[in-house]
Amino acid sequence: MNPGEKTFQEYLTNQGTVVKPYCWQRQNHTCGRCPYHIQTGEEARVPYAEFHRVFGFPYRSTATIQNKHLLFYELRSFSGRVVQKGHATNCTDQDNHPDSMLFEVGGYLDAVTDAYENTGCIILYLNYSPCNEAIHCCVSKICNFLLKYQEVTLSIYFSQLYHTEDGFLTAIWNREALWSLSSLWPWVTLQRLPGGGMAYLLCNSGYSIPGSTLHHSTCDE
Ligand SMILES: [Zn+2]
Ligand SMILES: [Zn+2]
Repeated sequence: MNPGEKTFQEYLTNQGTVVKPYCWQRQNHTCGRCPYHIQTGEEARVPYAEFHRVFGFPYRSTATIQNKHLLFYELRSFSGRVVQKGHATNCTDQDNHPDSMLFEVGGYLDAVTDAYENTGCIILYLNYSPCNEAIHCCVSKICNFLLKYQEVTLSIYFSQLYHTEDGFLTAIWNREALWSLSSLWPWVTLQRLPGGGMAYLLCNSGYSIPGSTLHHSTCDE
């Protein structure tokens, strides 16, 4: 291991298989998720009720949680096989966005992509589009990651735009960052999550799904 290289532990807890970077080995009282913001595998599924509140699927909920960021990811091989999947949540204590956590230099995806050379594609499903606000720099971190791993393509599906309306001081940065990401097509694809994609995501990343919400055939596809 190189000096200064971060280590990540993946291990089973009562909260599922979690990833614990060395720098977060403390619990804090203001963020209920710390230090378990990244979870992997089947244990990373979230209950339907939470999925619905955050993604507003299958119908927009009036109780959508404003400050909750939820991101699901899939790592696929060059042949398209899902190698790993999981989710990441924002940290309310350190004010970190999940995409910033995953893509930062020395972060989890950096470590995983470095270790597994057959990662051909990363797919992200987010409730909010990536931002490029000064304290987060999510889009810049994503771009730097892609420059480092140029063989990896990235597909981003989001449920709603984040801070791009005129009322936000940061709207211009966020809009420009999304344009620059889109301009990397076909290396990067950026689009709203379509209904079919929502159903796929729910089948693959949710649980306790009411029977009437989805036909079984959707989950078999
Ligand atoms: Zn936290
Ligand atoms: Zn962000």
